[in-house]
Amino acid sequence: MSSSPLFYQAGPAMPEVSHGRGVFLWDTDGKEYLDGCSGAISCNLGHHHEGIRDAMLAQLDRVAFTYRTQFENGPAMALAEALVDMTNHDLEKVFFVSSGSEAVESAIKLARQYFVARGESQRRHFVSLRPSYHGSTLGALGITGYQPLEAPFADITQGSIKVPGPDFYRHTEADDDAHIRKVLQETRERIEAVGGDRIIAVVLEPVGGASTGARMVNKAYLEGIRQLCDEIGCLLIYDEVLSGVGRTGTWFAYQQWGVAPDLLTTAKGLGAGYYPVGALLCRSELVDTVMASGGFQHGHTYAGNPLACATGLAAVEAIRNENLLDNVAARGEQLRDGLQALKARFDCIGDVRGTGVLWGVELVMDPDSKSPFPADANLFAKVTALAKEEGLLIYPRRTLDGVAGDHFLVSPPLNITEQEVGILLERLSRAMERLEAEVVAPLMA
Ligand code: PMP
Repeated sequence: MSSSPLFYQAGPAMPEVSHGRGVFLWDTDGKEYLDGCSGAISCNLGHHHEGIRDAMLAQLDRVAFTYRTQFENGPAMALAEALVDMTNHDLEKVFFVSSGSEAVESAIKLARQYFVARGESQRRHFVSLRPSYHGSTLGALGITGYQPLEAPFADITQGSIKVPGPDFYRHTEADDDAHIRKVLQETRERIEAVGGDRIIAVVLEPVGGASTGARMVNKAYLEGIRQLCDEIGCLLIYDEVLSGVGRTGTWFAYQQWGVAPDLLTTAKGLGAGYYPVGALLCRSELVDTVMASGGFQHGHTYAGNPLACATGLAAVEAIRNENLLDNVAARGEQLRDGLQALKARFDCIGDVRGTGVLWGVELVMDPDSKSPFPADANLFAKVTALAKEEGLLIYPRRTLDGVAGDHFLVSPPLNITEQEVGILLERLSRAMERLEAEVVAPLMA
């Protein structure tokens, strides 16, 4: 038992970190780890990035904090403009926050205030997917579809209407088009049962994160959802807290399908692990309406402070200056091929999905029936521990909603090199060999 007063979640004892350089971290015993999941898919430029460090130090030498109602600040204005440019002006207004959960809370509250301002206060329901993850604060948790996180708080949150999202791995329809038609039809029916004029917004992650193991949408699905939202007059919110800021090879993942939302949340990679910074982006009309009604009744103390925004700006500039969107595309192909090769070697890898440097690997007991491992086998924890022993960090989860089993994310920094992807795949291969021999074989015996 640790004597430290710190507590987080239950879990195995952890090594103490010493330092990091690029995609590598070292613990205080000198062991090296390749950061194959960018911390929590947040350290998008690796560790000890000199450009970001220099920008932060320069900002610290000027001023770290000013409050948004007292001063404009240059970094906040510049970062807001950069974010709008990154959406190609699909979205033109920016509200800063310090985390993904705060960005989602802000989206929930802005969307609700918009309809209150328009005299449509009967709109009080959100529609979101199961499984999904939108954050740990109560509003964001209410729209999250991840049973273990929801359960203790179900009675004190306003839950959303949970609908299934696309599942190209497990669906049983004749083809993907038929599957999308079925998912859209079910979404429509669930909304009609409540009444389209009572819905505030549909919220979804274009590429899922930890709750789904990088499950993807497609263009037909986004077009169908966009059309449904327009028909019933509700808003469409994309949660790109994890998939935004270059991780999928475009600035935002939705750009790969060309279907724009009304609001978009982003965080994690925006501060690149150097400082907490997140943002809500939205269409001008929403903000104009809310402002005309007396202003947005919302805000957080540290939101949009100069140091946060200088950090975010340095992260965006590094992605631009180092041509990292191109690198993400190239390394993404290398990762896809490497992970597919592992899938061909190991029966317990059921699915490999993702895009850019955001990949999910789903583990199954039987690749034909796609049946998951029993929950008490704790495969997700075991593969993570073995990878860590082999010097590789991956991001694990088990989805308990009957729609998927154990999976992990491979999501290294955007600036990982070709050689480093090779090291990542070698270490993962060794971890999989040990998983097969030490865990899966005895389970199947
Ligand atoms: N939305 C998504 C899609 C996320 O992946 C996360 C974090 N995993 C959040 C919201 C919450 O972000 P944070 O942990 O910064 O509050």
